[in-house]
Amino acid sequence: MKKKVALITGITGQTGSYLAELLIKKKYQVHGIVRRSSLINTHRIDHMYNNKNLKLHYGDLMDPLSLNQIIEETKPDEIYNLAAQSHVSVSFKIPEYTTDVNALGCLRILEIIRQKNKNIKFYQASTSELYGKTLEVPQNEKTKFQPVSPYSISKLYAYWITKYYREAYNIYACNGILFNHESPRRGETFITRKITIGLAKIVSGKSKFLEVGNLNSLRDWGHAREYAKIQWLMMRGKKAKDYVVSTGKQYSIKNFIDMCFKYLNIKVVWSGKGLKTIATIKSFENKDYKIKKGQVIIKVNKKYYRPTEVGSLLGDSSKARKELGWKNKTNIFDLISEMLDRDLKIATGKNINEY
Ligand code: NAP
Ligand code: GDP
Repeated sequence: MKKKVALITGITGQTGSYLAELLIKKKYQVHGIVRRSSLINTHRIDHMYNNKNLKLHYGDLMDPLSLNQIIEETKPDEIYNLAAQSHVSVSFKIPEYTTDVNALGCLRILEIIRQKNKNIKFYQASTSELYGKTLEVPQNEKTKFQPVSPYSISKLYAYWITKYYREAYNIYACNGILFNHESPRRGETFITRKITIGLAKIVSGKSKFLEVGNLNSLRDWGHAREYAKIQWLMMRGKKAKDYVVSTGKQYSIKNFIDMCFKYLNIKVVWSGKGLKTIATIKSFENKDYKIKKGQVIIKVNKKYYRPTEVGSLLGDSSKARKELGWKNKTNIFDLISEMLDRDLKIATGKNINEY
């Protein structure tokens, strides 16, 4: 039987790397698009580099010629479009670039599918950020989108164009409306990873405190490995559909930090309000930690606030659970311990290449 062929854009990113592992395990021939960078940007997939079922191609979502060439050459059965300028905060600084990659990049792939081979299945990495300032709780597939950032507005275009190509041209094109998903491979400037790296550096004496922005926003955080699996499941349906993917549990940034302290056995006292909020160390058990009682360990800095904020995201993924049989198994404490364990190893110079 002919091997299934998958093309992943964003394979060097957090979730793309887990998806590549899964598809290789499922006996796919996997192709990935890598953009040229002056520094090596493949560290999340280096452990698969010599696998004969993985082949990498230089390309860019902003470069239709490269996309056309790669799709022509690899002849995929399935395309997973995970590539994006994925950082909300950065999108306020580079809105046009964000729109070009996230919105037009998606259109470029769909248009190649329409022109070359309408049997290619297409997955679009949509996002809970589409719900923006909605007041509906929890959010499901029927909740109205109210995006409030250049990132989410670019992803809104990609969502609608994916749905449009499905309806207008009968292409198997689906949107995964994924809530935040994290892991030890998460980009270092997203809040969860920023916290686990920051605290690991502090306890190993490499820095004194961590500065963050809005501590009150609420997020529904899952594990990226499990969210990669549902992307594959969505391509297995009788009909292409859009699905919300979430854990159904919500925590604030402050809750997340407190859970990290609990894991590290550090007791802190929170004081102050708004920009003056601080956390001070009250006690700790591990004598090897290079911290002191009374040390201010968390501070708030205005520079990490955004012009507009998405205050609360909580997903209802009943449709995905019922129709695709998907389950999330990792709870927030398991996720935090996996992230902190790895970042503690990195901070102390151990096993930095192990994922
Ligand atoms: P990520 O770690 O930031 O990965 C993004 C990937 O896109 C990287 O491989 C990056 O390449 C690549 N990329 C960026 N610009 C590109 C361009 N112009 N051409 C080709 N490739 C480009 O993001 P992630 O967390 O894995 O998320 C995967 C997708 O899901 C993204 O589309 C994101 O917006 C979406 N999403 C993520 C979440 C989440 O919580 N993680 C939630 C909802 C939706 P480099 O490695 O070279 O930077
Ligand atoms: P997002 O949900 O895709 O924007 O993922 P992020 O991890 O970037 O941000 C999640 C939430 O954490 C947002 O409400 C941010 O405003 C909040 N946050 C607070 N401090 C920070 C910070 O220092 N960095 C980032 N990235 N987010 C922060």
